[in-house]
Amino acid sequence: MSKYVYGFGAGQADGDGSMKPLLGGKGANLAEMNKIGLPVPAGFTITTEVCTYYYDHERAYPPELEAQVDAAIKQVEETMGAKFGCKENPLLLSCRSGSRESMPGMMDTVLNIGLNEETVAALIKQSGNEHFAWDSYRRLIQMYGDVVLGLKPEKKTDPDHFEEILDHVREKAGVEHEKDLSIEQLKDIVAQFKEVIKKHAKQEFPTDPKQQLWGCIGAVFGSWMNDRALVYRRQYGIPHNWGTAVNVQAMVFGNLGDDCATGVGLTRNCSVGIPGFCGDYLINAQGEDVVAGTRTPLRIEETLGKDMPESFAQLTEIGKKLEGHFKEVQDIEFTVQKGKVWMLQTRNAKRTGFAAVRIAVDLVNEGLIDEKTALQKRRIPADDLNQLLQPIFDPAGKEKAQKENRVLAKGINAGPGAATGQVVFHASDAEEQWNKDNDVQLILVRKETSPEDLRGMKVAKGILTAFGGASSHAALVSRQMGKTCVCGCAALNIDYDKATITVGDTVLKEGDWISVDGFTGEVFAGKIETKASEVLEVLLGSLKPEQSETYGRYAQLMEWADKYRTLKVRANAEAGDAVAAVALGAEGVGLCRTEHMFFDHLDEIREMIFATKKEDRETALAKLLPFQRDDFTHLFKTLGDRPVTIRLLDPPLHEFLSEHHLHDDETLAPKLAKIFGVTVEEVHRRVDELKESNPMLGHRGCRLGIVYPEITAMQARAILEAAAGLKKQGINVHPEIMVPLAGFKAEFDNQAKVIRDTAATVFKEQGVEVEYTVGTMIEIPRAALTADEIAQGAEFFSFGTNDLTQTALGISRDDYKSFIGHYQELDIIPADPFQTIDQTGVGQLMKMGVEKGRGTRSGLKIGICGEHGGDPKSVFFCHEIGLDYVSCSPRRIPIARLAAAQAALDK
Ligand code: PEP
Ligand code: MG
Repeated sequence: MSKYVYGFGAGQADGDGSMKPLLGGKGANLAEMNKIGLPVPAGFTITTEVCTYYYDHERAYPPELEAQVDAAIKQVEETMGAKFGCKENPLLLSCRSGSRESMPGMMDTVLNIGLNEETVAALIKQSGNEHFAWDSYRRLIQMYGDVVLGLKPEKKTDPDHFEEILDHVREKAGVEHEKDLSIEQLKDIVAQFKEVIKKHAKQEFPTDPKQQLWGCIGAVFGSWMNDRALVYRRQYGIPHNWGTAVNVQAMVFGNLGDDCATGVGLTRNCSVGIPGFCGDYLINAQGEDVVAGTRTPLRIEETLGKDMPESFAQLTEIGKKLEGHFKEVQDIEFTVQKGKVWMLQTRNAKRTGFAAVRIAVDLVNEGLIDEKTALQKRRIPADDLNQLLQPIFDPAGKEKAQKENRVLAKGINAGPGAATGQVVFHASDAEEQWNKDNDVQLILVRKETSPEDLRGMKVAKGILTAFGGASSHAALVSRQMGKTCVCGCAALNIDYDKATITVGDTVLKEGDWISVDGFTGEVFAGKIETKASEVLEVLLGSLKPEQSETYGRYAQLMEWADKYRTLKVRANAEAGDAVAAVALGAEGVGLCRTEHMFFDHLDEIREMIFATKKEDRETALAKLLPFQRDDFTHLFKTLGDRPVTIRLLDPPLHEFLSEHHLHDDETLAPKLAKIFGVTVEEVHRRVDELKESNPMLGHRGCRLGIVYPEITAMQARAILEAAAGLKKQGINVHPEIMVPLAGFKAEFDNQAKVIRDTAATVFKEQGVEVEYTVGTMIEIPRAALTADEIAQGAEFFSFGTNDLTQTALGISRDDYKSFIGHYQELDIIPADPFQTIDQTGVGQLMKMGVEKGRGTRSGLKIGICGEHGGDPKSVFFCHEIGLDYVSCSPRRIPIARLAAAQAALDK
């Protein structure tokens, strides 16, 4: 018989921490905590297999499940010395979700299961606290209504019946919190809540504890497929078929009095990484109050030691034990019941990129982990390094804002970074604005956020909330998204109806500019200029290394990454950004797009393009030659003895000369007419000839060099003259000349001959020889399919996965945004194929290219220079198929270096 239920309690557990796929993260760690002797209320976990079964069988359970749940309840009753549904000594239960990867706030929870009119009376007797018992009961009805009966508002216009009643009763009583209501008022709320259920869910609130429990189990399984959970999984690449487990656990109470509390904590700060226990707690409250953000909690590190010294000591001890055992910073939930700390959850803490780097380096220095462990992808997702390279506010701009009294308020610095944007109050509005304009800069301003706001948070530059602490939903989610976030900014008076934020006399309206500093928690009215990150400043030489601790840790981590990676990392760079690329760790240039160099010499390139006669073209090319040679000399000098791959001209010529250029610059047509001695009408006719209707599949790449070999010859000459010139100065450079868009061996051979003939001439003229190679991009499927033939002449390959993706998928890289979102929502494709390599399609072509290429020429040097070269998942793939290097934009080099190390260490 399959085992579907795993019990735990009193230091024993059926499962353990290694069983996350089956028990979910929460269930596995509850078992593990039991085993290492931490205080955990007894309970049981219903496995993720039941979730899979549930969805495969039209939401029905395996027949064996009920008996297994009954037996597990009996076990919990024995351990806790109370009975579920008993009128004298009732056991109350909680029911929570828990999937393999934590999905904070995305799924549902119900507490206090087992309460009804009879058990509430018993609870009053037992606890001697009537207020507590009625408050627990009203919470159960509210959560049951919201979660099980679907009364939770989905849209901003939906009514929240329960909250409306609470608001009304609180207002009438003149109190701020339920804790200050009278028992009669709580009883009245309970009665009204039951009416809400009758009226809106068209049924009575179930009084049978078992019926309540099964309702909750079904709701938790059901929440696996709710919209916000689906969105979250898509964003973080969590497969839909993993399913969630359900954890049923005996209740312990943080709302029994002032020697009780509830809290969430971190064994060290996860915004910036400072060591030491921190978190939020509320005295005399139940779990949901802390994360819901409705009461602003107290800080563990500031006041818990004074408020509850013994409990604080227990908690600190537990924190140490947890870190020692899990070798990781833990994010915990706990309850203090009459002074005793109970653990409800522990998991590896989510953290910002800043904190991730600091924590990983600190844990190595503290001897808890080794370097290889520090580099693990789950500890520092490579993309998160981006945060260290993110801009901060320009101090002068900030000072100015301070002097101009534009400081609005200060909240909790929950997500580091600096963000300036226009105020938007609703996630749906943010999403709508972003769909119209992807460059829009928005700050999502909410009283507090909830999982429904996820889509809006994703598109906003920053998040600002009035309530909630460092562990509130807003804080947690923005940390994970790497968004700038300030929360708990109580001074903000947010009025959704009027769409205003008021602070004293200042009123900001929707659409006004606001700036939030996620490092300090400050909020400013208006815009503030941002500036480069500290790490970048050190790398670029404007700050000394010893002036930045953040840089010190970054450098340490990068040293480890470089030690373990086998993939080399190059930059896609031209002369202008080569210095930054080297500073960020580029080991060469993987793609110098020569056309980018032409943008500064538009007159000459246009003259070359306009020419219909070879002599005219050669005259124009002769003017371009010295510019190109200077650019290459500069690039080679910056890169020193690192390899530099230079690609010959690639884009369709109309990118430099088309009707729109003539239209935008009225002097252009007359200028060309004058140079070539033709009429302005003839200029327009020639430009019309250059027009292409599907230019990315038209006259571009090596097709240009084949039709106009003099272009290739000029570029080869510029490259080799620059290299020869440097060689005479004693500087050895290694040009790799790359032919774009070849699909036939003969295309490559044709261009290679022009290059090699030119080289022979240049070397003779210069009296020196330079080592160089000639290779090709593999960026159309035919090139991958015939890589064995092409490799007969090509001395290296570089996968141009931008073009390879568009040609393999038949999806234009320029016009796919209109439908790609739908494709992702409908799970037709797992990710944007222009960001992450489509491994099963494009990836197969790459594998074939590698195998065939090296089959002909063993040891063939192969890299990638499409945008994917800086995407961690794609870097993993490139490592796996045996590429020599990845090449990406300079800003992504540190990310690629770390991802390459993670790929090498990932067994
Ligand atoms: C590519 O196609 O992947 C590539 C790097 O070239 P480009 O983006 O310039 O077409
Ligand atoms: Mg290309």
